[in-house]
Parts: sequence; C-alpha cells; structure tokens
Amino acid sequence: MRPEILNPLFAEVDTLDGVGPKLKKPLEKLHCTRVRDVAYHWPDRFVTRRPVDNLDEASEGEQIIIALTVTEHRSGASRRAPYRVLATDSAGNVLALTFFGRASYTAKKELPVGETRRVAGKLERYGDMLQMVHPDHVLKVDDPALGQMREPVYSLAEGLTQPRMASLAAQALDKLPALPEWIEPGMLAREKWPAWPDALRSVHARDDERAKDRLAYDELLANQLAMQLVRADNRRKRGRALAGDGSLRGKLQLPFPLTGAQERSIREIEGDLQQDAPMLRLLQGDVGAGKTVVALHAMLIAVEAGAQAALLAPTELLARQHFETLREMARPTGVEVALLTGRDKGRARESILMGLMDGSIQIVVGTHAIFQEAVQYRDLGLVVVDEQHRFGVSQRLQMARKGKRPPHTLSMTATPIPRTLTLANYGEMEVSRLDELPPGRQAIDTRVVGMERLPDVVDAVGRHLASGQQAYWVCPLVRDEDGMEKPAAEQRYAALKARFDDDVVLVHGQLDPELKDAAMARFASGEAKLLVATTVIEVGVDVPASTLIVIEQAEKFGLAQLHQLRGRVGRGSEKSTCLLLRGEQLSETGRKRLALMRETQDGFRIAEEDLELRGGGELLGTRQSGDTPFRIATLEQMQRLMDPATADAKLLMDRDAGLEGERGEAARILLYLHERDMGVRTLRGG
Ligand code: ADP
Ligand code: MG
Repeated sequence: MRPEILNPLFAEVDTLDGVGPKLKKPLEKLHCTRVRDVAYHWPDRFVTRRPVDNLDEASEGEQIIIALTVTEHRSGASRRAPYRVLATDSAGNVLALTFFGRASYTAKKELPVGETRRVAGKLERYGDMLQMVHPDHVLKVDDPALGQMREPVYSLAEGLTQPRMASLAAQALDKLPALPEWIEPGMLAREKWPAWPDALRSVHARDDERAKDRLAYDELLANQLAMQLVRADNRRKRGRALAGDGSLRGKLQLPFPLTGAQERSIREIEGDLQQDAPMLRLLQGDVGAGKTVVALHAMLIAVEAGAQAALLAPTELLARQHFETLREMARPTGVEVALLTGRDKGRARESILMGLMDGSIQIVVGTHAIFQEAVQYRDLGLVVVDEQHRFGVSQRLQMARKGKRPPHTLSMTATPIPRTLTLANYGEMEVSRLDELPPGRQAIDTRVVGMERLPDVVDAVGRHLASGQQAYWVCPLVRDEDGMEKPAAEQRYAALKARFDDDVVLVHGQLDPELKDAAMARFASGEAKLLVATTVIEVGVDVPASTLIVIEQAEKFGLAQLHQLRGRVGRGSEKSTCLLLRGEQLSETGRKRLALMRETQDGFRIAEEDLELRGGGELLGTRQSGDTPFRIATLEQMQRLMDPATADAKLLMDRDAGLEGERGEAARILLYLHERDMGVRTLRGG
C-alpha cells in the first residue's frame, strides 16, 4: 500500500483549482494526470523579459513587457489568415499583435479598442511591421502579476497557456509533503544537493542543475533499489538445484569448437543452475555470436538433472527455426525436442501436451503458447527466453511467479545496449556476455552512400540477385501529416517490384501476421530473392547466406538497430556488403554515427559510443523513447549518476535488506514516489 503521506501527490490532476474536463486533455498529453506529475513537469527554460516604455528601446528578437493602447482589430482575409490587433506604444509606434486560429477569440475579449494593456512577448518583424505573435501575457495595467521579470517556459499542449501552467505548478508545489530524506547524508553533502521539496521548487523557479541532478538521482536510486529488491527476493526463493553430470552434453557432435566466450557463459550458467535460488541471467551477444549453442548446453544440463526445459521465442517463425536447429544439434543425445505454437491444434497438440505432462518430452520450443494454462509440465526446471527485451521487468516477474517452484530463467538478447542501460533495464539479473564472434567471419564492407546514387545502388542489387544471391532492403518508418506511422517500405517495394517482379517480397509491422510469416518464409526458403522491410526483420531468423543489405535513410535508425540490421549479413565466410543510404539533411551527430558504423562491428562498442553521442546531443531530440525506463533522468545524467545510484542501492540493501530502519522507511517512500512499488511488494509490510 502506498504510504498515506504521498496521497496528496497522487491525487488526480483535476483536484487542482481551475482544472476541469477541458484542461485534463492537454495535461494528459503532457503525461500530467496526477498532482505529482505536474510537480515533476518543470520548465524547459526561463526567459528574462525587459520592461520597456516604448518600442524604440527594444530590439528585434527581444522578450519585452510593454504598455500598449489598442487602436484597431483586423480579421484575416480568409479563415486561415491571422487575426491582427494593432496597438501603439507611448511614443506612437505601431505594433501588430498577431493571433492564429482560435486564439483570435481571446484577442477579441482581452484587447478591446481604446484600452491600454500590458503585453509580454517576443518582439519580431514581419515585412516592415513590428509584431508580436501570440503574446505570452495580456494584463490590465494595474495587474501585479507581471512583477517578475524572469519567467518559466513550460512545454505545453494546445489549450494550455504559460500562466495557467505556472499556476498549476505553484499549486502542486504547495502540496509537497515533508518527506524523510532517502539519499545518504554523506552523498547529499558532498554533492551539495538540496532536499527533495526544495529541489522541486527550485527547478520551477530557475535553471538549477544541482537540483535537477538530485531529482534524477532519486529516480535512478528508486529503479536500482527496486532491481536489488527483486534480486534479493529471488535469492530467498526455493527453486530447484540442477546439477548435470555431463552425460548428454558429452554426446553432442558439434561441427565446431566453442569459443572462449561461449565456454565462459556456459560455466556461469552451470554455476547458477546448481543453486537452489532460481537463476536470473541475461545472455548478451551480437547476432551471430552463437547464443543458441549456449542455450542448448543450459537446457541439456537441466535434462541431465532430470528436469524439463523450455525455449520461448518471440514469433512462430523464430520458434520453428530454433526448433529445427536444436532438434538437429540434440539428435546424438537422444533427447526428445518438441515444437508448440498457437497454431498447433487437435491431435498433434494433444500429444505434445501429454508428452510434457508425462515428461517424455524433455525440451519444448515455442511461442508464448508454451505458458498457457492448459500446458502442464511434469517438471519444468529451466526457461530460456529469446529476445527478452520485448518484456519489461514486471512482465518478467509475472513469468517467474508461474509454478510453485519457480524455474531458472536464462534471457537472451542480441540488442547491443550499453552497460548503464543494462543496469537500468536488467538490474535484477546477472549478465553473461558473448563478446567474441565465432572464428572465420569476414568483416562486413560498410559504405555510406548519398541518396543521389540510388539508381547505382538498384543496379548493384540487380547484379547481386542475378548472381543467385539474396539481399535485404530496409526502410525506416516515416510519419505522414496526421502523425501516423507509414512505412516508406511500401513505396520502395512498389518501385523495386516494378524492376525485380516476383523476386521481391515485402514485410512490415502493419502487415497481417499470416502474410508477414508467409513472405518471410518465401524469403527464408530462397524462393524470393529480395526482402524489403522495416526494422521488423525478425532478429535471428536464418536465411540462406545473404551477403548484401541496403539500409535507406540510415540516419533515421538508432545505432543499435543499424548494427542489428547489418548483422543479418556477414554470417558466413563470404564477403558481405552493407550500404547505408543517407538522406540529405544529416546533422553533425548523424554523420559521426554513420562513420562509427563504418569503423567498427563491435556491438558493445557501438552501443557505448552511441550513448555517448546521444547523451551529448540530447538537446537535439535524439533520445529514443523506450530506451531507458526513466522519465526524469536524461541520458547524460544516467551516464554520470547510474553507478553511484547502483552502489548506493547495494549498500542500503546490505545494511537493511528489509528497508525497516529510518533510511529504509524513507527509501520505501521513494519507491512509491517513482512507482517502483514492485520492489516494495517483495517486502514484509510492503
Ligand atoms: P545468435 O543466436 O547469437 O545470433 P546463432 O546461435 O544462431 O547466433 O549462431 C550463428 C551461427 O554461428 C550458427 O550457424 C552457428 O551454428 C554458428 N556457430 C555458433 N557457435 C560457433 C562456434 N563456436 N564456431 C563456429 N560457428 C559457430
Ligand atoms: Mg539467435
């Protein structure tokens, strides 16, 4: 239960004066649904306004406050044209106050002809006229409200104004309760951070980096503490120790020796499986790093110990491929491997369900269907989850709760994410890294090509297909005017189809799943030669060694995405090529990112440097949603403050794992404040 002291903060936003159904909508757009959210919605910046007597004292572009007398209203010639209110200053200079759309109603009401008003806004020039577009404030001459010269600029949604937002923020700040301090006193003193309510008040009043750091640190600490709590809770759970005797693994006849990284990861997994507490481990490794063999070893250990193992794949097609690979590799061991997807019906399905129940099936591969109610296992000891990143931590916890004796879990991901993001997103897990590719892989020849060379690129693809090989063509999602995502792939597909006819298939996220699978299957079987796609190309689906990938408008993709996409080629021993087609408007950072792609193929390095580049370039709007679980901390703050927050969370857990001491109590409040309550729920009295 949320501590009562936080109730005023979690009250709905319409408990604030002046918020009715009309304002709720724009506030919702800003993610301000509760008082708490308004308090955390601080200004993006501040403007300093200069009060001036007349326009001769002001310069263009300046933020000013000035008394003006309204002389005339001019409605636009058309409905789209702006509404203009002409006014004069004390020296007789004329200024146009310009309003677009519905704002003209306000203008009519608040600026009657013949009256004098104090107007605040940015002075601009339009042709040979001075103007102010949508003044920030229009006040009566004796209104005291414009006494302050520095004003906050909040990000707004339509229907909200700066003064309104400022008044809501002031109300929210008035409701801040006195909360006990959760940050370690030494750290607080060292960093010279303000107390929590002071920090919030400060960031609404001025540019206060220290206060912002403190608030970001709060969020990081809450997240890391929640992860630690989940971890600790997991360690208390009684699972089942699985000690394999090597009898099945010894029978494998792999056509290659394991890499050092694979052997190390298998040892780490083996160590975890021997414990009572269920394993929570993440296996990170680039596309092609060889995660499947590691998963197979883990599953064989479980089977050697007399238990069953399941592998969960994100799609049918991927499940099918994993099944075929694993069945083939496991053949010499005599272990029974089965496939179970949502599509299996009738007799075949029944027989698999029987086999899982009586234990004659030892390894099952499938989609989420393998966790449906009807599926019962004789003794499920290990679950391997491929492409874990599609699940959030709370979903992962739900999965772990299945069954009285929770199974061990191994999550696998090919998404290269930097260390700090791994900590933030998978902080409850141990991590094994496959940081070494199997030998014999050729470097992928990566080139950046301007869009003006599109015809040459198409010709090159044509020659490639003519030589009997396959290729990928990837397009980004683009937004149309209505803000709807529309795949540029549609258009590219049409153009390429005109040239390559039935050799081309199209796959994108908005396609019906059946059609998508069918297209992928045609490509995987080699029947189709060119796959045009958005990023939905299933990571991990094997296709006959393709050696060419074209990525259009490459600058629109995140580097991790580019890296993964590129990983679709270069999996065999032949030479592969990746062509990055860049659009016209390429920023400085965009250029550096593409250059980095050319320079290295190391996913971990790309992820780290990408974060560095984006952390620095965050103001340019390069942050990708869903990147981090954080609303407050920026990428830059995350890089700086994640390690201390993680260390502090560990320390707190070491001293007071039940969060029962004074600081522990404060930390519980912090967890609720940042909605990391899943951590608290693992505790007594949580
Ligand atoms: P991932 O799932 O990590 O993308 P896979 O497990 O599909 O990678 O492995 C990619 C390819 O590399 C497969 O064809 C696999 O047989 C091969 N492979 C895996 N480990 C090794 C190794 N140690 N040496 C050579 N080839 C390997
Ligand atoms: Mg794989």
